[in-house]
Amino acid sequence: MTYVVKGECVDCKHTTCVKVCPVDCFFELENTLVIDPAICIDCAICEPECPVDAIVSDRKLAPEDQHWLDFNKDYSPSGGKINPPVITKVKDPMPTYEEAAKRTADEQWSKVSRIPFKEIT
Ligand code: SF4
Ligand code: SF4
Repeated sequence: MTYVVKGECVDCKHTTCVKVCPVDCFFELENTLVIDPAICIDCAICEPECPVDAIVSDRKLAPEDQHWLDFNKDYSPSGGKINPPVITKVKDPMPTYEEAAKRTADEQWSKVSRIPFKEIT
């Protein structure tokens, strides 16, 4: 069992969820986070931390949101497709977070990036 980051996180990334995770299982893509199900201990602490309700247990995932479970699995380090960096510290949300909050589920899915986050130095 695992928790899942859904489309509300896309182009948002408030990151308030990451500071409470006891096992550091949030990973960062360009415009969203994912939870690695191979690491998540299903403790539920992160769920109320997300201001846009992007985090949900896989047991409560609506049928129309099942693809987000696969997305979190596939694009976490354990999924083997990419190797995104772990994120454990809160940072500013993306400048697009207000606009992102108005999107439909289809728009969220069409805009999610599959590229690991890279710090610009
Ligand atoms: S708090 Fe919610 S929207 Fe913010 S980064 Fe975590 S999952 Fe994404
Ligand atoms: S349920 Fe617990 S272990 Fe899983 S991502 Fe949330 S805080 Fe981390």
